[in-house]
Amino acid sequence: MAVSEYNDLPTSEQTRACVVCGQRFPRAELRPWISVRPQVSALIAVDLPAWSDGDDICVGDLAIYRRRHVEALLAAERGELSSLDHEVLQSLEAGALITLSPDAVDEGMTFGERMSDRVASFGGSWTFILSFLAVLIIWMALNVSALLFRSFDPYPFILLNLVLSCVAALQAPIIMMSQRRQESKDRLRAENDYRVNLKAELEIRLLHDKIDHQLSHQWQRLAELHEIQIELLEERGRR
Ligand SMILES: [Zn+2]
Repeated sequence: MAVSEYNDLPTSEQTRACVVCGQRFPRAELRPWISVRPQVSALIAVDLPAWSDGDDICVGDLAIYRRRHVEALLAAERGELSSLDHEVLQSLEAGALITLSPDAVDEGMTFGERMSDRVASFGGSWTFILSFLAVLIIWMALNVSALLFRSFDPYPFILLNLVLSCVAALQAPIIMMSQRRQESKDRLRAENDYRVNLKAELEIRLLHDKIDHQLSHQWQRLAELHEIQIELLEERGRR
Protein backbone atom coordinates (compact mmCIF):
# COMPACT_ATOMS: atom_id res chain seq x y z
CA MET A 1 0.00 0.00 0.00
CA ALA A 2 1.43 3.35 -0.97
CA VAL A 3 1.77 6.18 1.52
CA SER A 4 -1.00 8.29 -0.05
CA GLU A 5 -3.55 5.47 0.21
CA TYR A 6 -3.03 5.20 3.98
CA ASN A 7 -3.71 8.85 4.53
CA ASP A 8 -6.93 8.82 2.51
CA LEU A 9 -8.53 6.20 4.77
CA PRO A 10 -10.88 7.40 7.52
CA THR A 11 -9.39 6.99 10.98
CA SER A 12 -11.61 4.04 11.91
CA GLU A 13 -10.32 2.01 8.95
CA GLN A 14 -6.68 2.66 9.72
CA THR A 15 -6.46 -0.62 11.63
CA ARG A 16 -4.68 -3.48 9.96
CA ALA A 17 -4.22 -7.12 10.85
CA CYS A 18 -1.00 -8.45 12.34
CA VAL A 19 0.09 -11.43 10.23
CA VAL A 20 1.46 -13.31 13.27
CA CYS A 21 -1.47 -13.22 15.72
CA GLY A 22 -4.20 -12.17 13.25
CA GLN A 23 -5.58 -9.43 15.52
CA ARG A 24 -6.32 -5.94 14.21
CA PHE A 25 -4.33 -2.99 15.53
CA PRO A 26 -4.16 0.75 14.85
CA ARG A 27 -1.27 1.68 12.60
CA ALA A 28 0.78 3.11 15.46
CA GLU A 29 1.04 -0.39 16.99
CA LEU A 30 2.09 -2.11 13.79
CA ARG A 31 5.43 -2.29 12.06
CA PRO A 32 5.53 -2.85 8.29
CA TRP A 33 7.69 -5.55 6.74
CA ILE A 34 10.14 -3.01 5.37
CA SER A 35 11.03 -1.65 8.81
CA VAL A 36 11.88 -5.05 10.29
CA ARG A 37 15.57 -5.88 10.32
CA PRO A 38 16.57 -8.64 7.87
CA GLN A 39 17.86 -10.95 10.65
CA VAL A 40 14.58 -10.66 12.55
CA SER A 41 12.62 -10.85 9.31
CA ALA A 42 14.32 -14.16 8.54
CA LEU A 43 13.22 -15.51 11.93
CA ILE A 44 9.60 -14.51 11.26
CA ALA A 45 9.78 -16.09 7.80
CA VAL A 46 10.72 -19.42 9.42
CA ASP A 47 7.33 -19.46 11.19
CA LEU A 48 5.38 -17.69 8.45
CA PRO A 49 6.77 -18.47 5.00
CA ALA A 50 4.30 -15.96 3.47
CA TRP A 51 5.87 -13.02 5.42
CA SER A 52 6.79 -10.43 2.77
CA ASP A 53 6.45 -6.80 1.69
CA GLY A 54 3.05 -5.31 2.50
CA ASP A 55 2.59 -7.41 5.66
CA ASP A 56 2.45 -5.89 9.13
CA ILE A 57 3.46 -7.23 12.52
CA CYS A 58 2.25 -5.93 15.88
CA VAL A 59 4.76 -4.42 18.32
CA GLY A 60 4.27 -7.23 20.84
CA ASP A 61 5.02 -10.01 18.36
CA LEU A 62 7.98 -8.08 17.00
CA ALA A 63 9.41 -7.84 20.53
CA ILE A 64 9.17 -11.63 20.85
CA TYR A 65 11.02 -12.22 17.59
CA ARG A 66 13.59 -9.58 18.46
CA ARG A 67 14.23 -11.39 21.74
CA ARG A 68 14.65 -14.68 19.91
CA HIS A 69 17.14 -13.02 17.61
CA VAL A 70 19.22 -11.65 20.51
CA GLU A 71 18.98 -14.99 22.30
CA ALA A 72 20.31 -16.76 19.22
CA LEU A 73 23.11 -14.19 18.93
CA LEU A 74 24.15 -14.68 22.55
CA ALA A 75 23.85 -18.44 22.40
CA ALA A 76 25.98 -18.59 19.26
CA GLU A 77 28.74 -16.60 20.93
CA ARG A 78 28.69 -18.01 24.43
CA GLY A 79 27.00 -21.37 24.28
CA GLU A 80 24.86 -21.95 27.37
CA LEU A 81 22.97 -18.92 28.71
CA SER A 82 23.00 -18.26 32.45
CA SER A 83 19.99 -17.16 34.47
CA LEU A 84 21.49 -13.65 34.52
CA ASP A 85 21.54 -13.63 30.72
CA HIS A 86 17.89 -14.63 30.64
CA GLU A 87 17.01 -11.79 33.02
CA VAL A 88 18.74 -9.35 30.68
CA LEU A 89 16.86 -10.76 27.67
CA GLN A 90 13.57 -10.45 29.52
CA SER A 91 14.21 -6.82 30.35
CA LEU A 92 15.18 -6.18 26.71
CA GLU A 93 11.87 -7.65 25.57
CA ALA A 94 9.88 -5.67 28.13
CA GLY A 95 11.86 -2.50 27.45
CA ALA A 96 12.35 -2.13 31.20
CA LEU A 97 15.30 -0.79 33.17
CA ILE A 98 17.50 -3.46 34.72
CA THR A 99 19.74 -1.32 36.92
CA LEU A 100 19.32 -1.89 40.65
CA SER A 101 20.17 1.01 42.89
CA PRO A 102 23.13 0.20 45.17
CA ASP A 103 20.86 0.76 48.17
CA ALA A 104 18.58 -2.06 47.05
CA VAL A 105 21.26 -4.44 48.29
CA ASP A 106 20.75 -3.20 51.86
CA GLU A 107 17.02 -3.89 51.78
CA GLY A 108 15.88 -7.10 53.40
CA MET A 109 18.60 -7.05 56.07
CA THR A 110 17.60 -8.51 59.42
CA PHE A 111 18.00 -6.59 62.69
CA GLY A 112 20.97 -8.81 63.67
CA GLU A 113 22.74 -8.11 60.39
CA ARG A 114 22.25 -4.36 60.71
CA MET A 115 23.56 -4.51 64.28
CA SER A 116 26.63 -6.50 63.30
CA ASP A 117 27.40 -3.97 60.55
CA ARG A 118 27.08 -1.10 62.99
CA VAL A 119 29.15 -2.78 65.73
CA ALA A 120 31.84 -3.75 63.22
CA SER A 121 32.06 -0.22 61.86
CA PHE A 122 32.28 1.23 65.39
CA GLY A 123 34.88 -1.39 66.39
CA GLY A 124 37.06 -0.33 63.47
CA SER A 125 37.07 3.39 64.25
CA TRP A 126 39.47 5.69 66.11
CA THR A 127 36.62 6.61 68.45
CA PHE A 128 36.55 3.01 69.66
CA ILE A 129 40.34 2.74 70.04
CA LEU A 130 40.66 6.02 71.96
CA SER A 131 37.68 5.45 74.24
CA PHE A 132 38.81 1.88 74.95
CA LEU A 133 42.30 3.15 75.77
CA ALA A 134 40.78 5.73 78.12
CA VAL A 135 38.72 3.03 79.89
CA LEU A 136 41.85 0.87 80.33
CA ILE A 137 43.89 3.73 81.73
CA ILE A 138 41.15 4.83 84.13
CA TRP A 139 40.61 1.21 85.31
CA MET A 140 44.35 0.72 85.98
CA ALA A 141 44.80 4.14 87.58
CA LEU A 142 41.86 3.63 89.94
CA ASN A 143 43.09 0.21 91.01
CA VAL A 144 46.71 1.18 91.44
CA SER A 145 46.09 4.40 93.36
CA ALA A 146 42.97 3.24 95.29
CA LEU A 147 42.06 6.90 95.66
CA LEU A 148 38.25 6.72 95.67
CA PHE A 149 37.64 3.29 97.10
CA ARG A 150 39.25 -0.01 97.91
CA SER A 151 40.78 -1.40 94.66
CA PHE A 152 38.37 -3.99 93.21
CA ASP A 153 40.93 -5.44 90.79
CA PRO A 154 44.46 -5.06 92.18
CA TYR A 155 47.61 -5.44 90.12
CA PRO A 156 47.98 -7.53 87.80
CA PHE A 157 44.31 -6.70 86.90
CA ILE A 158 42.91 -10.21 86.52
CA LEU A 159 39.29 -8.97 86.19
CA LEU A 160 40.36 -6.53 83.44
CA ASN A 161 42.00 -9.46 81.70
CA LEU A 162 38.72 -11.37 81.76
CA VAL A 163 36.75 -8.38 80.43
CA LEU A 164 39.27 -7.91 77.62
CA SER A 165 39.12 -11.54 76.54
CA CYS A 166 35.31 -11.41 76.56
CA VAL A 167 35.34 -8.34 74.31
CA ALA A 168 37.80 -10.00 71.93
CA ALA A 169 35.78 -13.22 71.85
CA LEU A 170 32.59 -11.34 70.91
CA GLN A 171 34.23 -8.98 68.46
CA ALA A 172 35.69 -11.70 66.26
CA PRO A 173 32.38 -13.35 65.25
CA ILE A 174 30.72 -9.95 64.81
CA ILE A 175 33.47 -8.88 62.40
CA MET A 176 33.20 -12.16 60.52
CA MET A 177 29.43 -11.72 60.20
CA SER A 178 29.87 -8.24 58.83
CA GLN A 179 32.53 -9.47 56.41
CA ARG A 180 30.25 -12.16 55.08
CA ARG A 181 27.55 -9.55 54.50
CA GLN A 182 30.06 -7.37 52.70
CA GLU A 183 30.96 -10.27 50.44
CA SER A 184 27.36 -10.97 49.50
CA LYS A 185 26.83 -7.25 48.86
CA ASP A 186 29.86 -7.20 46.57
CA ARG A 187 28.59 -10.25 44.73
CA LEU A 188 25.20 -8.62 44.15
CA ARG A 189 26.88 -5.45 42.93
CA ALA A 190 29.07 -7.42 40.53
CA GLU A 191 26.03 -9.27 39.19
CA ASN A 192 24.22 -5.99 38.75
CA ASP A 193 27.18 -4.53 36.85
CA TYR A 194 27.33 -7.60 34.65
CA ARG A 195 23.64 -7.36 33.80
CA VAL A 196 23.88 -3.67 32.99
CA ASN A 197 26.97 -4.16 30.84
CA LEU A 198 25.46 -7.04 28.92
CA LYS A 199 22.25 -5.14 28.32
CA ALA A 200 24.11 -2.04 27.17
CA GLU A 201 26.18 -4.16 24.80
CA LEU A 202 23.10 -5.83 23.33
CA GLU A 203 21.19 -2.57 23.00
CA ILE A 204 24.12 -0.96 21.21
CA ARG A 205 24.36 -3.92 18.88
CA LEU A 206 20.63 -3.72 18.15
CA LEU A 207 20.99 0.00 17.46
CA HIS A 208 23.83 -0.75 15.05
CA ASP A 209 21.66 -3.25 13.23
CA LYS A 210 18.83 -0.79 13.16
CA ILE A 211 20.89 2.06 11.77
CA ASP A 212 22.45 -0.17 9.11
CA HIS A 213 19.00 -1.34 8.16
CA GLN A 214 17.58 2.18 8.11
CA LEU A 215 20.40 3.42 5.92
CA SER A 216 20.02 0.60 3.44
CA HIS A 217 16.28 1.17 3.16
CA GLN A 218 16.33 4.92 3.12
CA TRP A 219 17.18 5.06 -0.54
CA GLN A 220 14.38 2.71 -1.40
CA ARG A 221 11.97 4.86 0.58
CA LEU A 222 13.20 8.07 -0.99
CA ALA A 223 12.80 6.62 -4.46
CA GLU A 224 9.21 5.62 -3.62
CA LEU A 225 8.39 9.10 -2.34
CA HIS A 226 10.03 10.58 -5.40
CA GLU A 227 7.80 8.50 -7.66
CA ILE A 228 4.68 9.57 -5.76
CA GLN A 229 5.68 13.20 -6.08
CA ILE A 230 6.27 12.84 -9.80
CA GLU A 231 2.87 11.17 -10.18
CA LEU A 232 1.20 14.04 -8.31
CA LEU A 233 3.01 16.61 -10.43
CA GLU A 234 1.99 14.82 -13.62
CA GLU A 235 -1.67 14.69 -12.48
CA ARG A 236 -1.59 18.38 -11.75
CA GLY A 237 0.05 19.06 -15.12
CA ARG A 238 -2.70 17.17 -16.96
CA ARG A 239 -5.46 19.23 -15.31
ZN1 LIG B 1 0.48 -9.75 16.53
